[in-house]
Amino acid sequence: MIDTNREIDPSGTPLLQVRSVRKAYRSGGGMLEVLRGVDFEVEPAGFVSVIGQSGSGKSTLLHLMGLLDAPDSGEVHLAGTRIDNLPTARRDRLRNTDIGMVFQAYHLLPELSALENVLSPLLVRFSIADWFRHKADARRRAESLLERFGLGGRLHHKPRQLSGGEMQRVAIARALVGQPRLLLADEPTGNLDEASGAGILEALCELNRSDGLSIVLVTHDQSIARRADRIVRLVAGRVENV
Ligand code: ADP
Ligand code: MG
Repeated sequence: MIDTNREIDPSGTPLLQVRSVRKAYRSGGGMLEVLRGVDFEVEPAGFVSVIGQSGSGKSTLLHLMGLLDAPDSGEVHLAGTRIDNLPTARRDRLRNTDIGMVFQAYHLLPELSALENVLSPLLVRFSIADWFRHKADARRRAESLLERFGLGGRLHHKPRQLSGGEMQRVAIARALVGQPRLLLADEPTGNLDEASGAGILEALCELNRSDGLSIVLVTHDQSIARRADRIVRLVAGRVENV
């Protein structure tokens, strides 16, 4: 098995905690206050949907949890360790080892095959010497994830040769190859037809149930949100339980 070399002991609870987070953007002459004191928790093996109207700050919140951006104030904790204020190199490493992210637009690298896209986080993680040590294991893990998501026959396809649903399944496999405990998904079915979207949602539910993967799913679609254990809604910059 690949040595995941975790940054943070994953046994702490809650797995993810957002405390009093505020975030504003400069807008015209003034400031647009998007998050105005958000408190939010995800338990180990929890599955939470975040809903809210377009522009309510769902992506902003997900980006803060995934360390793609930093809050103006407040804190983000992963398994009991504060992570929002870590130095850049540690934040990058944490995103590589502990947090998987999936986006509406897939963000696959067009020149790489499905298999190479899935392997790319591990190429970033390891030094060249380590990569050669881990390569066979890494490849087996990437292939088995792709097979699990029904893409065993698409390993060497480029993204442009795949359907939207297939591209999103590659993106999910890429998010999982480093064995994160937390998956953050931002409107993962937003670009897909109903049947492909249902397949993606089924895959997420199965990962949560069978693997105990913790998931935060952002969606504006109530019927999708209901598949989670718990739904929270962003309204006027704060979180309400639904
Ligand atoms: P949602 O995902 O719920 O649709 P977002 O979190 O993307 O909402 O955006 C919330 C609000 O913040 C929107 O009004 C959006 O235009 C604004 N916004 C998001 N990102 C930026 C940014 N980088 N600079 C300025 N405004 C932004
Ligand atoms: Mg959004």
